[in-house]
Parts: sequence; structure tokens; C-alpha cells
Amino acid sequence: EVVGIDAGGTLIKIAYRVNDEWELQKIPLADMGKVRTWIEERVDNPVIHITGGKAETLRKSLPWPTEPISEFEATCKGVSYLRKRFNENDRHEDTYIITNVGTGTSIHFAGPEEYERVGGSGMGGGTLIGLSYLLTGIDAYEDILRLGKEGDGRSLNVKVKDIYTDEEPPISGDLTASNFGNIMNMRNNKYEDKDYIAAVVRMIGETITTMSVQMADRLNTDSIVYIGSTFDKHDHLKEIIGGYTELRGKAPCFLPYGEFSGAVGAYMHE
Ligand code: ATP
Ligand code: MG
Repeated sequence: EVVGIDAGGTLIKIAYRVNDEWELQKIPLADMGKVRTWIEERVDNPVIHITGGKAETLRKSLPWPTEPISEFEATCKGVSYLRKRFNENDRHEDTYIITNVGTGTSIHFAGPEEYERVGGSGMGGGTLIGLSYLLTGIDAYEDILRLGKEGDGRSLNVKVKDIYTDEEPPISGDLTASNFGNIMNMRNNKYEDKDYIAAVVRMIGETITTMSVQMADRLNTDSIVYIGSTFDKHDHLKEIIGGYTELRGKAPCFLPYGEFSGAVGAYMHE
């Protein structure tokens, strides 16, 4: 029986099908040993379809036959399947952008017959945890989620209208001119941990949206599908990215189970 695995830089995602129901599981890379037990408890004679940057590392610890699968291909195939299976309101356009916000961020173009990786950035879920830790000393994922939602870091940034003080700006004055650029406010005000984390969330959200929207413009598509565990339980980040994507005239979609795209795509590989 086939088991699909996407071993990423932070989390290992497992996809397995019983009858017509998916069993989906995430295991931190730090607990890699638990993958073997998870599979042993469920599957007889597994064949592992494996993808992701840690595929080779994980493969060595598993006693079963494995087939390596290209990460980008698995991800895009998985997205296409999950859209049809779980996203009923989907408009099902022929072409769309996939923005995968994992430890880092990868951007793909999906056409009717083809997929292509078209860009990426080091600004991702790892940045959220790492920069939050550096600024506050907090590294528990759940705490970072909660504090980011409670805080308000907008005055740590410079807006366009803060620069164009005495004249009409040539673009919307409410746009961010510089994330974390407001040194004056930093010197004069007292900020709490939650405000720093909120500003990190906003910076990541705005940057990822800008990259995705520019890519969508360049490739003539209106639809952006956001996936990756960084969105897991992170409604605040989804609001920032969803709202900002719409503001820029594109249609955002946060795919249900999107973080399992790579594992599902690997599972389905013939
Ligand atoms: P990459 O694709 O870049 O190799 P990955 O596949 O491991 O990395 P994802 O699993 O898509 O990446 O996302 C990882 C991010 O998800 C983390 O950086 C963090 O922001 C967030 N995250 C969500 N849940 C957790 C968790 N339980 N523990 C740690 N990070 C989590
Ligand atoms: Mg990944």
C-alpha cells in the first residue's frame, strides 16, 4: 500500500488513504523517529512515495521500499487534486499561481497541462518563528500565533503618507512604505512583545502577497492559491494576505488541507 510523505525543512507531512478517506498527519522534523511508528501502526507492506528537501534523510531511517518524487511536481499535482476534492466554491480557473509558504516560500505557475516554479523568497514560516524569537525570546508556535493576533505593530512601520506629509502621495498613503522602518516611534514609544510579533506577521503577509500578485500580473492570471503549514490555525495571517490580495485585484484561495499538497501529490504519483 502506498504512503505519501513530504519531508520539509520544519514539518513532515504524511498522506494515506483508507477506502476513500484521507488520513493526514504532521510530525515535526525534530521527531523524525515517530514517522516509522505512525506507519507501522496502520499500514502492512507500505511503499513510500517521498518528496521534500528532507526526503533522502528520512528515507534512510525507513525499512520499506521508497520512491523519490520531485517536490514541485508533487506539490502542484496535490493542489490540483485538493482543489477539486475539497474546495467546492472554487472557480476552477485553467491557470493560477500557487504560493507555498513553508519554512521558506516557493511560487509556482499552474496551467491546464503544465506546472512551473516561477519564484520564491526566504521570507516564510521560518522567518515568522525566527524573527519573533529574536525580538521577544518566545519560540512556542502557539504563543507566537496568539500574541501576533493580540498585538498591533502598525506604528513600527512607515506608511507612504508618513513620508508625503505635505503633499498628496502618488500612490495610496495607507500602503506600507517601510516595514520596521519607524525608528522615531521605536525610540519614543514603549512596545510589547505582542506588537513586535504582530509587525513580523504583517511584514511577512505583505511581502508574500506583493510577490504573489506581481507574479500573477506578469503571468496573466487572477487567481492565487495559498498553501503551507504557515497558514495552519493562523487566521490573522490569512486575513492580512486575503485582504491585501483582494485589494490588489486578485482572488485569494486558502486551500483546505493545502499544507498536505506535497504529500498527497506524492501519494498519487504513478
Ligand atoms: P519547506 O517546504 O520550506 O521545506 P516545510 O514543508 O517544513 O518547509 P510547512 O510545513 O509548509 O514547511 O510550514 C512550516 C511552517 O509552518 C513553520 O515555519 C511555522 O511557521 C508553521 N507551523 C505550523 N504549525 C507548526 C508547528 N506545530 N510547529 C512548528 N511550526 C509550525
Ligand atoms: Mg514544504
